[in-house]
Amino acid sequence: MSPPGEGSAAVSTLCQHCGLCCDGNLFDHVPLRDAEVDTMRRLSLTVVTRKDGSAALAQHCDALKGRVCTAYAERPEGCRRYHCALFSALAEGEVSLNEALSVVGEAHARIQAVEAVLPTPRADAPRAVLQRARQEDLPTQARDTWTRAEDWLDRHFRGRQRHR
Ligand code: SF4
Ligand code: SF4
Repeated sequence: MSPPGEGSAAVSTLCQHCGLCCDGNLFDHVPLRDAEVDTMRRLSLTVVTRKDGSAALAQHCDALKGRVCTAYAERPEGCRRYHCALFSALAEGEVSLNEALSVVGEAHARIQAVEAVLPTPRADAPRAVLQRARQEDLPTQARDTWTRAEDWLDRHFRGRQRHR
């Protein structure tokens, strides 16, 4: 998540309305440097091991309360460096704040539409709607709803950056 207080007020406002790069819908983990693992554990955040043996911060991130990072001062480098495509477009004046907030609103609306067609979550299911959708064997109509949401995130947020 882009940090409140860094850059212009507009991008801070945008991120505080969004949270998608921390809530598990855009990504399922944030890479960690070895030196960051103890800090994440001290903050009671979930650290997972990736296939290559490296550590990562699981998403949905438990530091996210509402749409705000509560571990802001100690967030890992992967969070500090990350800016989605929409953030960059706003920072560079390619879109207005209102246009960017509208894109965020549509993203949340499409994710909510996916949630409405998913089965009731199991206790061990991911909290992020799109992560759950990726694990379900969805009927065609629900799959179309899920695809609409993923396409929107690809187009406006992930850009060419599908991983953090
Ligand atoms: S996905 Fe982009 S706009 Fe949303 S919180 Fe992250 S950096 Fe900000
Ligand atoms: S530590 Fe903060 S910025 Fe990083 S994923 Fe968690 S909520 Fe987002």
